[in-house]
Amino acid sequence: MNIPQWLHAAIDVLMPRTCSVCGKPLDADEPYVCRRCMEQLPLTHFEDIPFNAMEQLFAGKVPIERAAGLFYYEKGSPYASIIHDAKYRNMPRLGEWMATRAVAQMRPSGFFQGIDVVVPVPLHRDKQARRGYNQSEYIARGIGQSLNIEVSLAVEASRRHSTQTRKSATERWLNTRGMYVPAPCAAQLANRHVLLVDDVVTTGSTLEACAEALRQVPSITISLFTLAVARLV
Ligand SMILES: [Zn+2]
Repeated sequence: MNIPQWLHAAIDVLMPRTCSVCGKPLDADEPYVCRRCMEQLPLTHFEDIPFNAMEQLFAGKVPIERAAGLFYYEKGSPYASIIHDAKYRNMPRLGEWMATRAVAQMRPSGFFQGIDVVVPVPLHRDKQARRGYNQSEYIARGIGQSLNIEVSLAVEASRRHSTQTRKSATERWLNTRGMYVPAPCAAQLANRHVLLVDDVVTTGSTLEACAEALRQVPSITISLFTLAVARLV
């Protein structure tokens, strides 16, 4: 056993890593979520459903090619902690790893076929400074690595906005409108098929506003991916 492995083993004994979902200690070959919880992940299978609930959410609002999220998100469900941990508990690599699992699960459907670039939903600079990272960027990286395609920070948050919690759908929409702008590097996305990525979709207002910003790029095609999908009914 070399030193790093020994150190790993010692750390596991002193501070056992636990499954984000069930909280049980993880085996050495289980990075963030245990095998059992991954097997029971409440998959949406949206990638196999024509005009799925997520695509319906954006219909008539912003033109997109296709949209899918990996698993259902319900408040209070133990699976919600995957999103919570990736966002707030300083575990961005959990998001990155889940994204690689999502590609493995959804790739056979052809969902990722023809995608040229992955673009994360940005965080406002203040928020990112406080949190230290943008969870969506890690999710985008996981997808980019799995598909061997580029990640582009092509959308920027343009101004501060008040928190989305406790706002109605209309208030959220007004709140996010004009909040995102294309970054200078977005010009390189002309004629390309972009996968816009976020951790979770609830009302869709953030993804819609980011897609609107990207649509300023000529001849761009936009598809949407999220790790989780809030139950929309
Ligand atoms: Zn578990």
